[in-house]
Amino acid sequence: MTAEIDSLLAARRACFQSGKTRSLEWRAGQLAAIRAMVTERAEVFHDALWKDLRRNKVDAAVADLNAVADEADYARRRLRKWMKPQRERTPFFLMPGRTTVQFDPLGVGLIVGAWNYPIQLVLSPLIAAISGGNCAVLKPSEVSPASAAALAELVPHYLDRDAISVVTGGVEETTALLEQRWDHIFFTGAPSIGKIVMAAAAKNLTPVVLELGGKSPAIVDASADLAVAARRIAHGRWLNAGQTCTAPDYVLVDKTVAPAFLDRLKAAALDFYGPDPQKSPDFGRIVNARHFDRVKKLLGAGTIHHGGQTDRDDLYIAPTILTDVPPDAPVLQEEIFGPVLPVIAVESIDAAIAQVNARPHPLGLYVFANDGAVVERILAATASGDAAINDCAVQPIIRELPFGGVGNSGMGKYHGEWGFRAYTNARGVLRRGAGLDPALRYPPYSRYSRLRNWIMGIR
Ligand code: NAD
Repeated sequence: MTAEIDSLLAARRACFQSGKTRSLEWRAGQLAAIRAMVTERAEVFHDALWKDLRRNKVDAAVADLNAVADEADYARRRLRKWMKPQRERTPFFLMPGRTTVQFDPLGVGLIVGAWNYPIQLVLSPLIAAISGGNCAVLKPSEVSPASAAALAELVPHYLDRDAISVVTGGVEETTALLEQRWDHIFFTGAPSIGKIVMAAAAKNLTPVVLELGGKSPAIVDASADLAVAARRIAHGRWLNAGQTCTAPDYVLVDKTVAPAFLDRLKAAALDFYGPDPQKSPDFGRIVNARHFDRVKKLLGAGTIHHGGQTDRDDLYIAPTILTDVPPDAPVLQEEIFGPVLPVIAVESIDAAIAQVNARPHPLGLYVFANDGAVVERILAATASGDAAINDCAVQPIIRELPFGGVGNSGMGKYHGEWGFRAYTNARGVLRRGAGLDPALRYPPYSRYSRLRNWIMGIR
């Protein structure tokens, strides 16, 4: 396997060194090809997403296919502007001269994807890599094999094979890939694996973007519109059967409105998925038996307020609300990544802030409140990759927003121009002519000292 990977990487490197990927035309052409792939072959991807995750067409379009097509378009239209070197001021003593920042491609990047949005989490980083003028090797997750197979079949068909390739396989293949020297590594997955990736990257001082997870809180204040809060939290949590990195992982609700909020949350579950969500065409499945067993175990703590049904043969876990959960229960310690939502009644907003700050920094933080002072107090007292007020989980759709974590939820940002920046070296360049070369710059400094001190501001 190592020999195969060696030769694959050597070919991508040769392509990068040929300079082919630097031109605006190449980048724009590849971005258009990504759009063509996910639109012309949408059925192949829909089938794969259904097989891997029983993903309905609306969610697959919004979260995977349309998201990728729109992002590719967005980048293609703005590429010229992003690539344009930025003009900066040249200090007087370096005049005549011209100072710019140019955005150079990094080289050949490795993109390692996760299984929960298996198309988007590989192609969206690829859009950033291409925008930056790089070559890339994609490693889709083995946990979503149908999506990985669709990418392995279609990417070489649509995109430039000299520059972009797909490697399928599991941990063994990822480990072999990580042993290589890359110019950039983009990883999406669990924080525990992120540490393995970063350790491998450190051997070559390779820059990384780590898109990780964590426990994203939703705080519901007494001033919130409870019905809207409940519906948006229910949608964020139960989309893709809870297997969404930005999903609200637990709710901290002001105790004075907790019973009313719980009623509305249950009503939202019934409204969205009916009395038997297993029959709903809109409710997904757990990706595999290992994750099913993991999530089912988390149901063992607290009181089941709603849901709780499971069917291992169908990898089904019902949309479930837990209450009265002891603080040390695993469901409040580890990221749930399933359709289970613990709701904790808190005495005050300060108590909610203390609970958030007792855990590592999350990927998202959500505040449901109509009181602006409460919103600002929570934002000022906490840290998270992203935040949304009176909404949750949907903020990555906004291309202009930097997407990514902080601390334990990751490092580096992407989407739109943020992705372009992650995949380029901001290279400061001073351009001077040789015509004028006053001696005042050079030793001995006893010469022209007063003039030099005046020009250079030396006191
Ligand atoms: P996963 O199991 O698919 O792993 C991700 C990748 O890591 C795979 O390609 C796999 O081959 C590789 N991998 C797994 N074990 C490895 C090892 N020991 N050595 C080297 N490579 C290895 O996905 P996952 O980690 O279960 O994904 C779920 C996590 O990802 C959650 O924590 C979730 O919050 C997070 N996530 C984050 C984002 C984001 O954008 N920030 C998006 C989706 C998921």
